[in-house]
Amino acid sequence: MLAVINDSEHVLSYSEIKGEIGKVCSRVTLYRVLERLEQEGVMYKIADVDGTFRFGSQSPKDNNTSYVHFSCVACRNVTKLKEDHVTFSSLSKHQVHFSQITMAGICPQFKKSTQT
Ligand SMILES: [Zn+2]
Repeated sequence: MLAVINDSEHVLSYSEIKGEIGKVCSRVTLYRVLERLEQEGVMYKIADVDGTFRFGSQSPKDNNTSYVHFSCVACRNVTKLKEDHVTFSSLSKHQVHFSQITMAGICPQFKKSTQT
């Protein structure tokens, strides 16, 4: 399961993960495993522009990292911008448990496919 999430270029929704490995486990099992991975800190959950939850992998050490995601309104893919982290100097004394920053728009792949 983690391999599916790790190997994916995009942050996957529940139904996309189920499409990949749905044959080997039931819906309930899948929910439980996702929940456990999230508690262990190796996975995080974000909501996309449609309010659908998506799952991405992370290192447990990354817990305080604020990832930036790009949500494509054309192909509905959500991508984690790997190199880009955000730090807020005004939060230096806060302990941040969770953050979600999502940009929405058209991804380069879709843009390219409409130009041909
Ligand atoms: Zn796109």
